[in-house]
Amino acid sequence: MALPTQTIQAIAVSPGIAIGRTTRIIDQSRHWEPQLHKITADEVDSELSRYVAALALTRTQLINLRKEVRDKLQAQDAEIFDAHIMIVDDHKLNAEVEKGIKTDHFSAEYALYITSEHVANVFSAMPDEYLRERSADIRDVTSRILSNLTNIQVPGQELDLDARRIIVAHSLSPSETAELDIEKVLGFAVETGSVTSHAAILARSMHLPAIVGIPPELPEQLTADDKIIIDGFGGKLVINPDARTEEAYRLKKAEVGQIRSRLESESELQPETTDGFIVQLAANLDSPDKIAEVKRCGASGIGLFRTEYLFMNRSTLPNEEEQFEVYKKILAECDNAPLIVRTLDVGGDKFNTNIYRANEQNPFLGFRGIRLCLHERRDILETQLRALLRAGVFGNLKIMLPMVSSIREVIEVRSIVGQLQHQLKSEGKEYVSDLSLGVMVETPAAALMADKLAPLVDFFSIGSNDLVQYTMAIDRGNERVAYLYRPSHPAILELIRVCVDAARKHNIWVSVCGQIAADVYMVPLLIGLGVHELSMTPSSVAVVRRVIRSMAMYEMEQAAQAALNCTNATDALAIAEVLINQRVPEVANI
Ligand code: PEP
Ligand code: MG
Repeated sequence: MALPTQTIQAIAVSPGIAIGRTTRIIDQSRHWEPQLHKITADEVDSELSRYVAALALTRTQLINLRKEVRDKLQAQDAEIFDAHIMIVDDHKLNAEVEKGIKTDHFSAEYALYITSEHVANVFSAMPDEYLRERSADIRDVTSRILSNLTNIQVPGQELDLDARRIIVAHSLSPSETAELDIEKVLGFAVETGSVTSHAAILARSMHLPAIVGIPPELPEQLTADDKIIIDGFGGKLVINPDARTEEAYRLKKAEVGQIRSRLESESELQPETTDGFIVQLAANLDSPDKIAEVKRCGASGIGLFRTEYLFMNRSTLPNEEEQFEVYKKILAECDNAPLIVRTLDVGGDKFNTNIYRANEQNPFLGFRGIRLCLHERRDILETQLRALLRAGVFGNLKIMLPMVSSIREVIEVRSIVGQLQHQLKSEGKEYVSDLSLGVMVETPAAALMADKLAPLVDFFSIGSNDLVQYTMAIDRGNERVAYLYRPSHPAILELIRVCVDAARKHNIWVSVCGQIAADVYMVPLLIGLGVHELSMTPSSVAVVRRVIRSMAMYEMEQAAQAALNCTNATDALAIAEVLINQRVPEVANI
């Protein structure tokens, strides 16, 4: 049954408007609770058959998964599926479910759910850790059988959609988002995340309108009969809109489309302020196949290539040769424009089980980025650096390091680079001898040490997504604290100022490659603070170019000074809003 017409206020994370039917994804990590549903005596047989069919389908899926994992990984990695198949075939459990259907007249979903919850709870209470963990396996298998009973998608299974649909889910991981087929998906609405969570970053790069912070019960309540609108500008979710509302959104979509195409037609124009200062506008690249878009948007180069996407959604690590070919190809496409490659930044929400096995309480504060690469997976760092040093001779390559929080880390990487150069030389291979190396400033420690880091590097790139997260102490994946994500906060502006001043003193340049580089209100403040380059998702370059071409440098400098003197984020933002509304009102709401 379709839900009543309603509008829900959530959080906008990727611009655009999507209108369509939904498909729900049940997150395996959250347990779906089927409601008590009674069947009639006449329905018992068909309910039993449904249950048996779902078991058979689940068994087939697990056997296929076991084979796939055995082929790609080690045999012991596939053992988990043996345990899962045993749960599917468990006579006692199945007899209990059948009893629930036959005697209590429960629906198959409900009978399965209460039976398996009972068993899982018994395991959870056991003193032995190994047995306690089995409760997760039972819930995992139950989730799969439930999904087969209800035809609801489970992450990891390919979406089988007849028409393009809007995904509604509790959460989407970066790898699940990367796997979405944009031919089949119109956009998504999820419960967890924020504007800087990696699923949101990917949504913007895939041009999918997206919102986060929807009510937790919504994915279970929506059905294929419900039509929804995702407003990726205002962060709204409209369920079963009336004709007038739908028409208004269609008009807005068309209007924004027109403004955007007008701005995109200016891709040849210089990003030059009205008083003649040129700002570098670069693009962020999440996957090598997006390079054509980078070229189309008129970016001056690639300011951040997030290499973790080369490591995602695969069971083996990319070796030196494979990476060498990828970097070389991108450099050739860049045609001597700069390409800044960031070394692997796995951890946080960019979880990859092949590399990162630790189960941490606070992954964003844990073994992430350069820490992991220097201390546990130096093999990965060395392979990547070797591939980069070799590919670098084919273009204008720069390398930067993620999550730096101490001088020591930079010194260690420099020393590894020196050893690898020596190695390559003795192997008679061509390599870059004068490597341009930068650090990402994304921890307050790095910003406050900028004066001491600057002599060791060739550039800074401010990773504001993390810098805001660590400065404001807000988990970037947690929608509950997303309201505290205020990049105009004077504390953030001050850290950027410290960084720019140190760079100026040591004659190096500063880029910003986090989401704020594409935030039209932050752009005047960043340029006014003295940032040289902004790097962003390619689809934002046109709008930011227009902002820069509409203002004078001195106006941005005045705005930045005034914002620095504010006592709070709202007042600082208001200063930028006045400037935007005076000079480029057309970009205010797109
Ligand atoms: C950042 O932190 O701003 C950044 C660009 O890196 P990522 O979003 O990949 O963590
Ligand atoms: Mg970061």
